[in-house]
Amino acid sequence: MESFLSDITGSFSQGAGKNPTVAIMEAGYAAAGMDVRYLNCEVAPAQLADAVSGAIAMGWLGFNCSLPHKESIIDLLDTVARSAELIGAVNTVVINDGHLTGENTDGQGFLEALRTLTDPRGARAVIFGAGGAARAIAVELALAGASSITIVNRTADRGQALADHIDSQTDAECSFSPWTPGYRIPGEANLIVNATSVGFVPQDKDTLDVDFSTFTPGAIVADVVPNPPMTRWLVAAEKAGCIPLTGLGMLVNQALVNAKLWTGEALDAKVMHSALEKALGITEG
Ligand code: NDP
Repeated sequence: MESFLSDITGSFSQGAGKNPTVAIMEAGYAAAGMDVRYLNCEVAPAQLADAVSGAIAMGWLGFNCSLPHKESIIDLLDTVARSAELIGAVNTVVINDGHLTGENTDGQGFLEALRTLTDPRGARAVIFGAGGAARAIAVELALAGASSITIVNRTADRGQALADHIDSQTDAECSFSPWTPGYRIPGEANLIVNATSVGFVPQDKDTLDVDFSTFTPGAIVADVVPNPPMTRWLVAAEKAGCIPLTGLGMLVNQALVNAKLWTGEALDAKVMHSALEKALGITEG
């Protein structure tokens, strides 16, 4: 007999405002003809454990966690994937017969988007930023075989701590470089990532304090900021002959990875990309 209940996936967040992931996931499930829903739930930190018990009780396939739950959720899980453990944060939980597995798909989404352009093995990366996004990207790049990673961050202590962590816990060579004014990107870098929040609307006139004449033509230059898709950083990189990778790809690929973990199905990236653009009120380019 056909069930009248949809499978449920969702997000536990707090005060995050409109969550574009709802639009991406729902569009992906609908296009695949799947009877699966994605719900955004406002959960206060003190109620996280109850919310997780509720998700198990209601037979959810899994859920995302946004700030402030990305670290505290770890204590409630049965298993944590290696990359999530190294990142120290979980943004995706898979529920399987009541067993909870934590993953971090922020960095996996970035890697999947990057793989549409190049193989990350052997990359010589420079990452600006040392927050959650930078940490996730640095860990995934290191696990994917990047040969060197340079962390550049406004707050030196934070940047140094991330570089030491990656260098000691993975096979990649990772070091910190102080962010001096008009920062000159090392000539050997072939992957340069803005993993700071600089350039997000409405501050889209802002960009990184970097000497853009030091972009090496042919390098891949990425931005985690999804809106606007072509940030000033990416426009400057493209002008210098680099290949831009927008933050939209990271978001869409993260959703694709989540869906695969929860349902085992590969959803349609194009449909989800259009849904994201519509949800953010933008058109790429
Ligand atoms: P965090 O708050 O953890 O880190 C912010 C980082 O940006 C820090 O390194 C901070 O430096 C740096 N920063 C902020 N302002 C400036 C500035 N004016 N000049 C130089 N550096 C600055 O944030 P997250 O890492 O979680 O998020 C970063 C961005 O990534 C956000 O815009 C977020 O929306 C985006 N993101 C995109 C995803 C996607 O799928 N496209 C997924 C996850 C995040 P300092 O340490 O000195 O404070």
